[in-house]
Amino acid sequence: MSQGNMIYEGKAKILFEGPEDGTIIQYFKDDATAYNAQKKDSISQKGVLNNQISEHLLLALGEIGIPHHFIKRLSLREQLVQKVEIVPIEVIVRNVAAGSVCSRIGIEEGTKLPAPLIEFCLKDDALGDPVVAREHITLLDIADDEELDEILYLTNRINDFLCGLFRAIGVRLIDFKLEFGRLDGDDSYEIILADEISPDNCRLWDVKTNEKMDKDRFRRDLGGLIEAYSEIAKRLGISIELEDDSTSGDAS
Ligand code: UDP
Repeated sequence: MSQGNMIYEGKAKILFEGPEDGTIIQYFKDDATAYNAQKKDSISQKGVLNNQISEHLLLALGEIGIPHHFIKRLSLREQLVQKVEIVPIEVIVRNVAAGSVCSRIGIEEGTKLPAPLIEFCLKDDALGDPVVAREHITLLDIADDEELDEILYLTNRINDFLCGLFRAIGVRLIDFKLEFGRLDGDDSYEIILADEISPDNCRLWDVKTNEKMDKDRFRRDLGGLIEAYSEIAKRLGISIELEDDSTSGDAS
């Protein structure tokens, strides 16, 4: 399959060296994990759907001027992206309480938050990706104040735009996770959106029924994950191409 050596294998994606300097190929696997990888499975076609949904969302964000790493989709499971130095924090945006925040601060799932809540988590599996304050991030020298201001500015714009985009297709954007990277320029660098935006890292509820259309279908053993992701793609107007059954989702 992909040209170039493997750089890194994550839970849902594999990164390969891209064809040119400064590029990387993101390969979307079918693997699904939850609860810090204590729960694992493989769900046929998940990677194919996430690749195409993430392409659609990053291109839409690009149109409103959000800088991102996406260059082009190469195949059903691969996309070419710009190589960045990932800032090792997960930026979680919450519009409605769900998931870990409910037990952490004692708030009922489904509670609409008075304003978007942005949380930072360290990207550190060994520590269990703990929520940290901005001060922890600067203390650990992970990012400086200027970078964090830029990350917050971009995150708020992304949230405003995506809330509207999903609302228009009858979906509530409950929460989601973003990652950012540093893109080297000639004598400076820029903070840009990296990773992916897909139902794997968003919570998406149908406006009318509150049905979950995201990875909670796997986390909570609800079934119907592929149907839900396909419905999101369909409502977004993406004509999804699926892989034929004989092609496997592993990258070998
Ligand atoms: N999320 C993610 N990767 C992570 C942690 C969270 O994509 O490592 C996403 C998750 O899909 C949800 C949001 O961030 O849309 C908030 O997740 P939460 O902190 O509630 O954690 P969870 O309940 O998934 O453990």
